[in-house]
Amino acid sequence: MQPVDLIINADYVLTMDQGLSVIQQGAIAIKDKKVVAVSEFDEIAKNYSAAKMINGQGKVAFPGLVNTHTHAAMVYFRGLADDLPLKVWLEEHIWPAEGRWLSPEFVGDAVELACLEMIKSGITTYADMYFFSDSGARATKKIGMRAVIGAGIVDFPTMTGKNADDYLANAERLIMEWKDDELITPSIADHSAYACSPETLKKSKERAEKHGVPLQIHLSETGWEVGEILSRYGKRPVAHLDALGFLSENLIAAHCVWLEPGEIEMLAKRKTAVSHCIESNLKLASGIAPVPQMLRAGVCLSFGTDGAASNNDLNILSEMSTAAKVHKAMAGDPTALSAKQAVLMATRWGAEALGLGRITGSIEEGKAADIVIADLNRPHLIPLYDIYSHMVYSMNSSDIATVLVNGEVLLEDRKLIAADEADILARAVEWGRKIREANTRT
Ligand SMILES: [Zn+2]
Repeated sequence: MQPVDLIINADYVLTMDQGLSVIQQGAIAIKDKKVVAVSEFDEIAKNYSAAKMINGQGKVAFPGLVNTHTHAAMVYFRGLADDLPLKVWLEEHIWPAEGRWLSPEFVGDAVELACLEMIKSGITTYADMYFFSDSGARATKKIGMRAVIGAGIVDFPTMTGKNADDYLANAERLIMEWKDDELITPSIADHSAYACSPETLKKSKERAEKHGVPLQIHLSETGWEVGEILSRYGKRPVAHLDALGFLSENLIAAHCVWLEPGEIEMLAKRKTAVSHCIESNLKLASGIAPVPQMLRAGVCLSFGTDGAASNNDLNILSEMSTAAKVHKAMAGDPTALSAKQAVLMATRWGAEALGLGRITGSIEEGKAADIVIADLNRPHLIPLYDIYSHMVYSMNSSDIATVLVNGEVLLEDRKLIAADEADILARAVEWGRKIREANTRT
C-alpha cells in the first residue's frame, strides 16, 4: 500500500485524457499536489491508502474548467451599464468608471470576488488582462487559483502609465516578481491592434519572447475593428498581426469573430490559440465567431467569459451550453459543435491555449490535482445516459460541490475554505454602495 495525501472517489471520473476515458466508480489518488493514479475505485483502494478521503458518491469528478479570457476585476462594474451600443457602453460608462475607481485596492478586492465566483462555477484556471495586475496576481494567489495574469498594454495614458513604455515596464516588473510562481504565470496583454501601434506590438512580442511568457490580445472582435485596421494599415487584423510577426503558439487571441477563410488558415498555421467569448459577443452584438470552421481548420479553441460588465457572469458551464446551441442554429447543423468538443474546449484545449497543457486540463498521472466534483443527484441531472451531454446541456454552477487547485481543497460542499467568503462579499457590497452613490450624484 502506497501512502498518498488524498483519495477522491466518484460515480464518474471524466479524465479528458487523449483517449477521453470516462471511469465509472472511479477514484483519483493525489500526493504532493499531483495526481499519482486515476483508475477504478477497487484498483485505487487496493494500492493506495490516504489520511483524507473525499466521498464522491452520486457525483462526477472532472478537470477544473479553464477560462481563457477575462478581466476579473470588472465584476465590480457588473450591471452598471447594459443594453447599449459598444461605443457608448465603453466610452460613456466603462472607461469613465475605470478612470474614477481603479486602484490597487479596488483591483485586489474585486479579483477576490471574481475568484470566488469562478471557483463556485468550477473554474480552476483563468487568463486575465487588466491594470494593477500585481494586485490581481496577489488576490488570486491568496485564494489559491491558477492564473495567467496579463499586464495591460495600450498606447494612451491611464492611471497606471503615460505610454506603452510605461506599461511594458509594469509588465516586466510583474514578470520578475511572478515568473517562478507555481500558480501565477505572468503575461503581456496588448489590448488590441487598434489601441497598440505596430511598434508597441513588436516590443511586446520581443519582451514576451525574452522572458518566455504568454502574449494576449483582443482580435477581430467587431466589424468596426476590421474596417479601422484596414484603413490604417491596408490589411485585415489577422494579416496585420502576422506581418508584424505577432501570431504564434504563444499568443491567446480573444474573440476572433470577423474572420475570412484565409485568416482561419493563418491562425491554424501559426498555432495561435483562440478564446471564444460567445456570451460577450452576443450581448454586445459583436457577431458570432466561425467556430465550426475554426474546428475544421484545426485552430486551438477554448472558452472565455470576457469581463463581467459584458457577460454578465464568469461561468464556463453556461458558455459551453450557449456556444453548443448557437453554433448548431447558425450552421443549421446539430453536429456543428458537440458536447464532447465543448468540454474539450473548456478543459484540455483551454490549458493548452495558455501554455499550461503539461500542468492542468485533464486528470492524468503527473498533472496537478485541479479537480472539480459536481453533484449528480439533482432533478435536472437524472437519469444520466451521457455525462458530456449533462455537463453541457443540463449542469449549472449550483451543482458544483468541491473544487481543488494544485491539490488544495478551495471549495468544500459549496463553502469557500481558502478565504473568508463573508468578508469578500461585504467588501463587494461596500464598493458597490460607493459606486452607486457617486453615480447618483453625477
Ligand atoms: Zn476582453
